[in-house]
Amino acid sequence: MSRAHHLAPFSDYQQLAEKGPRIITKADGVYLWDSEGHKILDGMAGLWCVAVGYGREELVEAAAAQMRELPFYNTFFQTAHPPVLELAKAIAEIAPPGMNHVFFTGGGSEGNDTMLRLVRHYWAAKGQPQKKVIIARENAYHGSTVAGASLGGMKYMHEQGDLPIPGIVHIPQPYWFGEGGEMTPDEFGIWAADQLEKKILEVGEDKVAAFIAEPVQGAGGVIIPPDSYWPRIREVLARYDILFVADEVICGFGRTGEWFGSDYYGNQPDLMTIAKGLTSGYVPMGGLIVSDKVFEVINQAGDFNHGFTYSGHPVAAAVALANLRILRDEGVVARVKAETAPYLQARLRELADHPLVGEVRGLGLLGAIELVQDKAQRKRYPADWAVGMICRGHCFANGLIMRAVGDTMIIAPPLVISPAEIDELVAKARLCLDLTLAEVQARA
Ligand SMILES: *Cc1c(COP(=O)(O)O)cnc(C)c1O
Repeated sequence: MSRAHHLAPFSDYQQLAEKGPRIITKADGVYLWDSEGHKILDGMAGLWCVAVGYGREELVEAAAAQMRELPFYNTFFQTAHPPVLELAKAIAEIAPPGMNHVFFTGGGSEGNDTMLRLVRHYWAAKGQPQKKVIIARENAYHGSTVAGASLGGMKYMHEQGDLPIPGIVHIPQPYWFGEGGEMTPDEFGIWAADQLEKKILEVGEDKVAAFIAEPVQGAGGVIIPPDSYWPRIREVLARYDILFVADEVICGFGRTGEWFGSDYYGNQPDLMTIAKGLTSGYVPMGGLIVSDKVFEVINQAGDFNHGFTYSGHPVAAAVALANLRILRDEGVVARVKAETAPYLQARLRELADHPLVGEVRGLGLLGAIELVQDKAQRKRYPADWAVGMICRGHCFANGLIMRAVGDTMIIAPPLVISPAEIDELVAKARLCLDLTLAEVQARA
C-alpha cells in the first residue's frame, strides 16, 4: 500500500519502496510498538509534540465528548464556540505578559503563514506598507508551506519550488559547533547576533517588518545559541522599529522547563507561533499568539482577510484544553524544570567522553550529540559515510528513536519521561554509539 498509494512527507520514494516503511501500530507512555512487536523508547516524542506521553485517556475523552456535543463549527464571520474561547483564554494565562490574543491554525506552518500576513497587515495599518521584509535565519525550520519553507533556512527545501518567495532574507545561525571556527562561543554569539543589525541596515529599517527565530533551533539540530547571543539580539532589536517573532512550535508548552522558550531566555517577542505541544499531537492544531501592542493596531484596521476552515476546531481546542490542564495541574512543566531536565542533561553529558562524540549540548528536555572523526578539531566524517544515519539505524534496531540531522543525533523525549526511563535512554544511546563507532572503524 505504501509503494502503490502513499506519498510520505520528506521521503525518497525509491528508497522507501525498496525497504518499505517501519509500521508503528501502538503506543503507551514514552514507548511505541511496531508491527513486528518491537518496543521502542520514543526519544523524539513523536515529532517533538507528544508532551504528555501516549495513552492519556483524558485527551481521548475530551475529544469524544466534544465530538458528541459539537464536532465542528467554524469561527468565521462572527461566530465562536465554547472550547475555542476557553482555549484562547487558557493560552493567554500562561503566555508571557502582554501576549493576550490567539489566532488558531491547523499547525505550525499555517501559524507562520498567518504571521507573515498579519505582520504585513500591521505595518500597512500603521501607514508603513513598505515594511514587508522578514529576516529569518539559515538552517531555521518554520514549516513546509510556501511561506513556512521560505522563512525556514533549509537550502534543500528552497531548491524545490523556487523558494524563498520575495521579501524573506536570511542571516547566519548561532551554531558555534558547526560554524564558530576559531572564535570562542561567546565571541561567535556576538558575531552572529550582529549579523541581524547588519542585515537591517543593508535592507533598510524602513523596509524590515520583522525578525523571526526559534529560541532553540529544533529541526536544524537542537542548536543552542551561545550565552552571549540572545542578550545581544535584544540590544539590536531595541534600536530598530521591527517586530520580533518567536517560533515556539518546539520550545513552547514546557520543553525548556518554562512555559515558553522566550521565558527561558528572557526574550519579549511581539508574536509567537505555536503548535506541536499545544495538543501533545493527539489532534492537529497550531496558532499565533499576538501581543497587545500588535493587536491594538490590527484592531483598528478593519477585516483581517485570513482564516482556515479548521481555525479553532472545537475538537482540537477541547483536546488542547485537556492537555494544558495535565501540563499545569499535574505539575509536568514544573517537574521538567526541577527534576527531569537537570537529570537528563547531567546523564547526557556523560556521553561526551565517547570517542565518537565531539559535543553534547542541551537544555530542558532537548539534547544533541555531535558525531565526529576528530574531537579536538570538531572534524566530521565524510558526509557520504552518513554516520548519523548509521547511528539512527542502530538506535531503531535497539529500541530507541533518536533522530539524525546530518551527523548530529538529537532527542526531545515526552515531557513525562521518568528518571528511570532517562537512564534507559542514555544506556541505549551509549550502546548505539559503540555500535556506530565499530561500524565506522571497520570501514576506515
Ligand atoms: C514543526 C515546526 C513547524 C511546522 O509545524 P507543522 O505543524 O509541521 O506545520 C514550524 N516551526 C517549528 C519551529 C517547527 O518545529
